[in-house]
Amino acid sequence: MSENFLPFVRPSIGEDTIAGVADVLRSGWITSGPQVAAFEKELGEYVGRPMLTYCHATGALEESLRALGVGPGDEVIVPDMTFAATLNVVFRVGATPVLVDVDFATRNLDAAGVEAAITERTRAVMPVHYAGLAVDMDPLNELAAARGLRIVEDAAHAIGTTYKGRRIGSFGDVVSFSFHANKNLTTIEGGAVTTTDEEVFERLRQLRFHGQVKLDDGSYDVVMPANKYNMSDVSARIGRDQLAALDARNARRRELAHRYFEVLDGLEGVALPAKGDEGHAWHMFAVCIDYPHYGTDRKAVREAMQERGIGTGVHYPALHQLTVCREAGARAEQFPNADRIGRQTLTLPLFPDMQDSDVERVAEALKAVLHG
Ligand SMILES: *Cc1c(COP(=O)(O)O)cnc(C)c1O
Repeated sequence: MSENFLPFVRPSIGEDTIAGVADVLRSGWITSGPQVAAFEKELGEYVGRPMLTYCHATGALEESLRALGVGPGDEVIVPDMTFAATLNVVFRVGATPVLVDVDFATRNLDAAGVEAAITERTRAVMPVHYAGLAVDMDPLNELAAARGLRIVEDAAHAIGTTYKGRRIGSFGDVVSFSFHANKNLTTIEGGAVTTTDEEVFERLRQLRFHGQVKLDDGSYDVVMPANKYNMSDVSARIGRDQLAALDARNARRRELAHRYFEVLDGLEGVALPAKGDEGHAWHMFAVCIDYPHYGTDRKAVREAMQERGIGTGVHYPALHQLTVCREAGARAEQFPNADRIGRQTLTLPLFPDMQDSDVERVAEALKAVLHG
């Protein structure tokens, strides 16, 4: 099985990157240094705004809320369909997450749903560009401006995504990316954040590293209690090569996704994701399956796919289905779309090194498993 096993995700790391990492390891400087500075510069040029790297997006998201002054007594609007990090960071700063249902096809928040959830305690909204499909940001940014809310975009899936021709990160209030091993651009673990708000940018810099500011005499001061979230030069070296290859790899993801639409078209009881446009970064290809229609369940389908040498994922259980939210009183009826996605979603293999024939193999296996 192992020889021919197709995982649902596999990072693309070239031999030149491995050689580049070896050079960094031999250089005598392996934590934040020249590679981080170069990666931040290149990333800033790519995205279109200055970037601060972090050792993971979870830290960047948490410190974004903190840098905006979000804390106890505040509400933060979060989509019910996202990874747990988007939720946890709200709890971690002492604020209250307010879950909002998503659109079934796009898996994304929309402005109308957000508007209905605003109270006098709402301070921020955290839209997630699910699977690399941009949230419709114009109405959301207009709503935020009109109601005095901050927007912290969780763009973990969306490095290289464009919205109406503009790169995610090149505009908007505060935008955070993830470079986790499974993401479109990886530094093993890593993240980055950008904003045009200079005060918030400076706070994010201080919150990244012990609350330090450098002094003229070569020593430092500590201006706030802070954690430690800096990226290593080893990671940044990987990220530089990943960035150079990103657009080509995202284009390949797009081709593979389009192939999935062809081979899965019309399969009964299987809802394909929204196609989006050329700006979609296709971080994942997740379908929703009506398992009872085939007399089965997700666990059995995943096991049968695994037996056929194909890995699958679940991205994600809806937040309201998690114990932390159920204990806070969340009920399935409030989130019919995310509830269905959470129960039905199945992530199929999608990564740039896949062949077209791999997509065909996945589709054939899925059909055989469902009909078998
Ligand atoms: C991966 C991910 C994160 C967290 O990223 P890390 O870099 O692993 O901390 C946050 N939000 C979403 C939607 C993600 O997929």
